[in-house]
Amino acid sequence: MDVPLSIISLIQYAANYHGEVEIVSRTLENEIHRYSYRDAYIRIKKLANALKSLGIGPQDRIGTVAWNGYRHFELYYAIPGIGAVCHTVNPRLPEAQVGATIAHAEDKIIFAEPDFVSLLEEVAESTGCVGTYVIMTDEARMPETNLANVLCYETLIAGADEDFANQDYDWPSLDENSAAALCYSSGTTGRPKGVLYTHRSTILHSFAACMPDNFGIASRDCVLPVVPMFHVSGWCLPYICPMVGAKLVFPGSRMDGQAIFELLDGEGVTMTAGVPTVWIMLLEHLRASGKKVPRLKRLLIGGAAVPKSMIETFETEFGVEARQGWGMTEMSPVGTIGGLKGAQAELSRDKQYAYKATQGRPVFGVELEIVDKSGTPLPHDGKNFGEVRVRGPWVVGEYFKDAAANEAAFDAAGWFRTGDVSTIDSDGYMRIVDRTKDVIKSGGEWISSIDIENAAVGHPEIIEAAAIALPHPKWGERPLLIAVAAEGGAPTRDGVLAYLARHLSKLEMPDDVVFVEELPHTTTGKLRKTALREMFKEHVLPTA
Ligand code: AMP
Repeated sequence: MDVPLSIISLIQYAANYHGEVEIVSRTLENEIHRYSYRDAYIRIKKLANALKSLGIGPQDRIGTVAWNGYRHFELYYAIPGIGAVCHTVNPRLPEAQVGATIAHAEDKIIFAEPDFVSLLEEVAESTGCVGTYVIMTDEARMPETNLANVLCYETLIAGADEDFANQDYDWPSLDENSAAALCYSSGTTGRPKGVLYTHRSTILHSFAACMPDNFGIASRDCVLPVVPMFHVSGWCLPYICPMVGAKLVFPGSRMDGQAIFELLDGEGVTMTAGVPTVWIMLLEHLRASGKKVPRLKRLLIGGAAVPKSMIETFETEFGVEARQGWGMTEMSPVGTIGGLKGAQAELSRDKQYAYKATQGRPVFGVELEIVDKSGTPLPHDGKNFGEVRVRGPWVVGEYFKDAAANEAAFDAAGWFRTGDVSTIDSDGYMRIVDRTKDVIKSGGEWISSIDIENAAVGHPEIIEAAAIALPHPKWGERPLLIAVAAEGGAPTRDGVLAYLARHLSKLEMPDDVVFVEELPHTTTGKLRKTALREMFKEHVLPTA
């Protein structure tokens, strides 16, 4: 039958067949809020009614400026449920870009948590499209604000006339190819660009992502999405968990090691997902406190290259399987996921970890190619590397209202150009060498900054590292390693170089090592190499 795929069907399913399963949220007030899928669905129906009463129609954009929590979850469903588009605003973008994305999206209403009200006040002048602000709290906690037309979320829902506890909502029948959500890329490569996700792309992506070799989520699982819901739909975990009836735990605004540990331990989390920096904080907390996480089975790490040592530490010291994933805003986000194939169980430990340290293999639905500068496909031999191009039902077909970006983003055959450089081996395992702009070009050879960083964080006294290219009179460019010492560690330049000499080729060896207190990150947890290149542009590499 030709039944359109729709996002609202996910929560309808969860409410019907997993109605008692909990959604647990840490609130801004640092309290724990609990309710069930059944309760959530009742409020989603009320919210849908409220949105309609505010005059929201098909394909109107509604912005959210919020952490991971139950009210944000409700908006994830009510907005696309009535055929509108949920624009998750990234509050960590520079202020001007927050305003620019809201204006570009032409958001009619903004739903915001109280701690983002001052940010919205700052950008109000450039966001005249917004007619109403709804503060995601109750009357007692409404903040003072000079924003115009401000409503309170709980009051809005309470006033949404009908009693939906005993009746369903008359959801409109939607074209599955209509837009359901909008997310802007994180701006690492310039200004943020808008990506629309459709009902169809979201459902197909969720089916694929939750399969056993991928996220591997089942009804028995308890899932903590640390990855923010304001970026790439929280890797679609707020859709995938209702699809299977898994318990959801939302961390709110607190993502420090202690806070994450408390939720992992207290709620019995079996699966969690986030960027590497979050897991650095958790590992530090676990080591300092001597705590373990016995109920946690699997950790999905992505968004930036995952050091092999991190995967090994989680598996050998804490008994948690760590899988690396690679993807992009433009890919909903999942493209590849790590993990061994059956036959690899017989391999030596070192060989197994070599596979686990790759970005993984394509999930069903995503086609991957690597191409040379002329666009000719390269062999999948694990050696040749080139730019990754992708195609699939949840890959962006065009940026939202952005003709200039579209021109550069797609090749003549319609494949999306990711800007990542990688190898692919005959089993499909992809190893990201770099972003095209981050590779270090030395004497005609390409050096992967990620390989250098990976080796450096294997040093017991280094917690995080970045390698960047600096100009060199003879070789064109040579690597500089910028490292952060682990707590209590005192690594030296020469000691680090001696360590790296055992793990890197001569070509890859950094010409110099410097230490910093911390490294700059983008709003989505990636190393901000543009900032590092600026910081160290005067640094002179030793020429001897
Ligand atoms: P975003 O659209 O902000 O999610 O950023 C996507 C980019 O993050 C990709 O194009 C990669 O450069 C980078 N990225 C994501 N996952 C990984 C990974 N596992 N390893 C290396 N880079 C990654």
